Amino acid sequence: MQQINQIYINGQFVTPHGTELFDLYNPATAKPIGHVRLADEQDALDAIQAAKQAFPNFSRTTKATRIDYLKRMHAAVVSVEAELTAAIIEEYGAPIARAVWMARHAANVLLDAANVLQDYHFTQRIGSADVTMQPLGVAGLITPWNSNAGFICAKLAAALAAGCTAVIKPSEMSALQTAIVTRALHQAGLPAGVFNIVTGRGETVGALLSKHPDIAKVSFTGSTAVGKHILRAGAETLKRITLELGGKSPVLILDDADFKQAVPMALQAGFMNSGQACVAGTRMLVPEHRLAEVEALIVEQIVNIHAGDPQDSNTSVGPMVSLKQWQRVQHYIQIGIEEGAHLLAGGPGLPDGIEAGWFVRPTVFSRVTNQMKIAREEIFGPVLSVITYKDETQALAIANDTPYGLQAYILSSNAPKAHALAAHIDAGRVLINTLAHEPRAPFGGFKQSGIGREYGTFGLEAFMEPKSVLS
Ligand code: NAD
Repeated sequence: MQQINQIYINGQFVTPHGTELFDLYNPATAKPIGHVRLADEQDALDAIQAAKQAFPNFSRTTKATRIDYLKRMHAAVVSVEAELTAAIIEEYGAPIARAVWMARHAANVLLDAANVLQDYHFTQRIGSADVTMQPLGVAGLITPWNSNAGFICAKLAAALAAGCTAVIKPSEMSALQTAIVTRALHQAGLPAGVFNIVTGRGETVGALLSKHPDIAKVSFTGSTAVGKHILRAGAETLKRITLELGGKSPVLILDDADFKQAVPMALQAGFMNSGQACVAGTRMLVPEHRLAEVEALIVEQIVNIHAGDPQDSNTSVGPMVSLKQWQRVQHYIQIGIEEGAHLLAGGPGLPDGIEAGWFVRPTVFSRVTNQMKIAREEIFGPVLSVITYKDETQALAIANDTPYGLQAYILSSNAPKAHALAAHIDAGRVLINTLAHEPRAPFGGFKQSGIGREYGTFGLEAFMEPKSVLS
């Protein structure tokens, strides 16, 4: 059993003032694997104080110094990649290939930020003004469980690159990953207080960061409901707020696509990160007159999507992170059946041959209308909806008929047409015939998928304020 009894404040590992013990589980077995002692409000206050004290000096460091820090942090996280991969599998259940990618991503984002900083000019002349980008102050960084290590490193990298100091509130369900990342980042040897890591509950530590007057900026990734709460809490002190929230991303398969390639890619887009991905392509939009063909291909291809042991390299869908998430996904599968959608693959209960763990059968509903709950609400599990369209005008209307706007996918053999459609989609990112991430491009949502952008220059500027000096 693993016991995590320390948090990181002012460059030191300390025992939290908080005394609550929170159980950690292996979602592939549903068995406890240890516990984490949670930070409380007092710990959060200590962390904010440390970050506040560190800010004046850190904000005046040179670009070269901060690039050096980011490179040292990158090297430190690379050195724990294997350990981090194992923790991601154990406490989150990511299939091994995904877990390897996630651990590498956590390191890469630090180097990406160093590269962005290298090319960034903090001052420019605009008319009669020298316009300088100035760091905001102490940043509160709040992460979810579905990519905890990656979000800790990505948010911290942008904050530090900008010259902010930080208090990080990681997901309480990801304490193994946080402990490994914290040890690595400590090894990088940054000045005390520049970053502080306090694992605690959202309602206590997270809520305090969202309202404390010494926090200038909150960057949050998580559910839309909590994001709205943070926005309201931050209004009192007019915090700068970046929110990366949920999604219900459309995958437009155009009539001209090679369906034998497009359908497997659409399934991959939907089931990525075991369906626990804000960017998952959960609404597959297909030409009405080719529905039978699509359905046949899905039935043929879904046998290649194995839900099961995350350590098995054949597995592409791991367990849901918790019993609560498992129950939530089961609930939505039941709703889909009750709404009259056609259950093409999967369904309620555990996958065949699995008796323990929070596993879900990879599920596809067909003949779904865009008004059904399963097409409107984020399920956050491996449950996809196939929706038909008559023509591309209707496909666009369906794609945009959602409260969300994080990501969209277009699969087509006609590049000019795909780009023309992309121009009309209300989403922060549109991926044409690819599932690859671009770390230099901004990431974030339209509508209720969030506010602001992360990554690249846009993500860096989200931690700064422009100041004009006229002369
Ligand atoms: P969540 O919103 O419940 O929790 C996210 C984080 O917020 C956790 O650290 C939690 O402790 C904290 N939190 C909870 N209540 C809080 C409060 N009142 N004040 C401040 N912080 C609080 O979400 P989750 O269950 O951890 O993650 C799943 C959700 O996250 C999904 O809805 C998914 O769409 C979303 N998500 C979005 C992205 C994105 O980039 N857009 C990425 C991953 C997950």
